[in-house]
Amino acid sequence: MKEVVILGAGYAGLRALHVLQGSKGDFHITLVDKNDYHYEATDLHEVAAGTQPRERISYDIADVVRPQKTTFLQNEVATIDRQSQRIMFTDQTSLSYDYLIVALGFESESFGIPGVNENALEMVDVDSAETIYHHLLKQMKEYKKTQDPDLLKIVVCGAGFTGVELLGSLVENRKEFAEIAGVQSEEIKLFCVEAVTRLLPMFDENLSAYGINNLVKWGVEFLTGKPIKEIKPGVVVYQTDAETGATEELSAKTIIWTTGVSGSHVMADSNYAARRGRVMVNQDLSDPEHSNVFVVGDVSAVMDPATNRPYPTTAQIALKMGYQAAKNCLHLIKGEKTEDFHFESLGSVASIGNTHAFGLVGKMPVKGYPASFVKKAIMDRSLFLTGGVKEVLAKGRFDFYH
Ligand code: NAD
Repeated sequence: MKEVVILGAGYAGLRALHVLQGSKGDFHITLVDKNDYHYEATDLHEVAAGTQPRERISYDIADVVRPQKTTFLQNEVATIDRQSQRIMFTDQTSLSYDYLIVALGFESESFGIPGVNENALEMVDVDSAETIYHHLLKQMKEYKKTQDPDLLKIVVCGAGFTGVELLGSLVENRKEFAEIAGVQSEEIKLFCVEAVTRLLPMFDENLSAYGINNLVKWGVEFLTGKPIKEIKPGVVVYQTDAETGATEELSAKTIIWTTGVSGSHVMADSNYAARRGRVMVNQDLSDPEHSNVFVVGDVSAVMDPATNRPYPTTAQIALKMGYQAAKNCLHLIKGEKTEDFHFESLGSVASIGNTHAFGLVGKMPVKGYPASFVKKAIMDRSLFLTGGVKEVLAKGRFDFYH
């Protein structure tokens, strides 16, 4: 019997599992993850801001594993040895495979900027998102005692999709923070420091302006065209003049780092030629050196023939990659030819709080409350594609499910 190993129970890994478990064949699957739960990485900002508890965006991996076909192994991958077809774990144990799907996901990217790892909060998994929320509650309680205005200041570093969605949720939960601190909501000061001036370039100017202008209207102060050069304890240092290199400082007791992501460090540790943790794969998602290995999701870079650039790292693309890698694994097991990866975007929507959103559905711009409805549908779709009906009913965003 052939052994198929899936590394990572994120969007891509669980989508692959879903397809493989639903297919006939003489193979056994081992799913590996360091946690015993899956979390919806696109919803981490809600846990960080405290608008959703962690249980709402995560579910037990055991819920989606069919024991007749799959073994779940909770362990942390150290390296992949593609020559001997073995996975080496941090506890010195190992596991062999015939076919491998690598879906190890993302990590926060500090770009080597001094002080980021030590002095900023990252938001990369449920634990780190929850840490942000608890940190915020602590600052608010501390303010009540000391009245230090920096305790009420929150700086989000980077105005990408993640930063903007986080700001939206922080605005939404400002009332809770203000009540704990004993102040008015407007006294909770939200800042966003961003390197470029044209925000959210994947959308046209009207659409991104809609999102940003709403956040400004709700009190967020954007400092754009200001690349961050250093994070000191309680201080963001950003450049104000590229020619002279002049900098200014913004003090705040909460500094959250959302300037982009890289793929898992396991890729470079396993001697992959990875750029920011992403491995350039063949069009069928296979490893260029080992055709029995597929690399998907945020650790993978596959060329979009339309733009001649790699597809971005999004949940939607990870789900489709997981699907295609599983199909191609099945082809190999049957001795058939693999198929190339094709992707047609369904669009992308950024939420700004629970009732506002903006983005594209297909190529059509959407904004406001209807867009937030679309966003909830997108969230439920990913729950359905990784978990199934049970997870949508338990964690879905439409109240009529409850
Ligand atoms: P990103 O790379 O999209 O955005 C990071 C932002 O940080 C950019 O605007 C960049 O200019 C800025 N930045 C980088 N270095 C900086 C510095 N030194 N100082 C100040 N600003 C700096 O990263 P992300 O927002 O984490 O998103 C990662 C991926 O996930 C993207 O492909 C994104 O589209 C996707 N995503 C999608 C959704 C969604 O569809 N709703 C949600 C979250 C993330």
